[in-house]
Amino acid sequence: MNLSKSRYTSGIRCEKLLWLDSYHKELADDMGNNSVLENGNEVGNLARGLFGKYKLIDFSKGFSSMIQDTKKLLDEKENVICEASFYYDGNFCSVDILKNDLDGVEIYEVKSSTDIKDIYIDDISYQVWVLKNCGLNVKKACIIYVNSNYIKNGELDIYSYFNIKDVTNDISDDNVLSYVIKFKNILDNKNEPSNDLSKSCHSPYDCPYFHYCTRNLPSPNVFDVGCSVRFSSKLEKYYNNIVTYQDLLDTGGFNDRACEQMLFELNNLPPKINKDKIISFLEQITYPVYFLDFESYQASIPTIDGTKPYQQICFQYSLHYYLEDGVELFHKEFLSDDYDGNPMYGLCEKLCQDIPKDSCVLVYNDSFEKTRLQEMAYLFPKFRDHLLNIKDNIIDLFPIFKKHDYYVKEMGGSASIKKVLPALFPNEASLDYHNLDQVHKGDEASSAFLSLKNLDDDKREELRCNMLKYCQLDTFAMVKIYDKLKEVVKKK
Ligand code: SF4
Repeated sequence: MNLSKSRYTSGIRCEKLLWLDSYHKELADDMGNNSVLENGNEVGNLARGLFGKYKLIDFSKGFSSMIQDTKKLLDEKENVICEASFYYDGNFCSVDILKNDLDGVEIYEVKSSTDIKDIYIDDISYQVWVLKNCGLNVKKACIIYVNSNYIKNGELDIYSYFNIKDVTNDISDDNVLSYVIKFKNILDNKNEPSNDLSKSCHSPYDCPYFHYCTRNLPSPNVFDVGCSVRFSSKLEKYYNNIVTYQDLLDTGGFNDRACEQMLFELNNLPPKINKDKIISFLEQITYPVYFLDFESYQASIPTIDGTKPYQQICFQYSLHYYLEDGVELFHKEFLSDDYDGNPMYGLCEKLCQDIPKDSCVLVYNDSFEKTRLQEMAYLFPKFRDHLLNIKDNIIDLFPIFKKHDYYVKEMGGSASIKKVLPALFPNEASLDYHNLDQVHKGDEASSAFLSLKNLDDDKREELRCNMLKYCQLDTFAMVKIYDKLKEVVKKK
């Protein structure tokens, strides 16, 4: 089996990952990485314009045609070749952008991220090694990545949108040969490598084989501990063969909330309710009270003036509200139909109508909503005061659960609303996200919004309806949680 850039970098991270990815992809978890791939493709295509006119090697023609076409263009002294492809002794690589000068070549690896990760250096080292062995003089190697500080203003300026870092002096192709030999041996072997868990399981990306690789550990085990315990701390315990909850409790070293999580699960403890803390929380709330949740998407390449790469663009909200304590629950919502412009303008206009100034606004995990309101206040001076007023009146439900002032063992050490809700309401079908159609989580809502403009009317209406139901459940969940807090403090 040939090596490629992606196989080589998988091998650098973990040899078992390389082997599983090559022979048993069916064992991988679905990591929901589609939007990451789409962003990567869009950014890669955009970067091709950085050096003027270019020739693109056609990927669909297959590897041998790609290699032949590259050779032909090099012979013709073509100056910029994208996806320039090379093969040396079982090693294939396509260079994102190759600048072909009379005295040698420059290679540019394009990444859609906003920083440079160590693994990129391995990636480009492999390319340099292949090209050198194909007889090319590699003068310079660079990584092109996204400038997170770029703010779009008028036409997209690709020279400001991208950062280019010269990594020629950081790369080392001396070790590549020994890795290549090692990885080829692994691929030639029918037996799965025996690599143990390591930091590569979660860094720089979550490995999709983590469940597979931990399948023989007792359940629950150290990797099921939540409560903000770092993966490196869990690994340390694991390496010392401290894996079960009992062993972890006996040896100590994790934070109090993590110990509480384990004690609750081991001893099947009843819910913990810190009434004083919950009463103090509830005493802050005034009426009318609004329950707010935004949906948003991220665009790697900003299309809206005043926004940055990967900025969250809000397109939808749901708002439940009580005008008075213990009376009727009302609902309002917004879902933009501005698919090509700026959905945030209409959203802000309606939000300022729907939430009067100085109202109490409940959210779940306030950093997201507060940051969005701050960004939109900056974008729209017309609504600035009102949006900042909403932001300043936000009260967060999340800390009650994060700090375990209300804890139920089924939360499993997580304060995420998707864990808290079924833990508090285990048998309520109307609160079960699985019972929704089409849209069950935030990233599905983002993709749904971006797909709306290309749907025919019936399909668009159906999807919009399901998006509204999803977002409505998010705020209804908060209402139920709020009502539950009021209920539990009343109980003797
Ligand atoms: S989960 Fe860890 S050990 Fe398993 S393949 Fe991935 S990186 Fe390797």
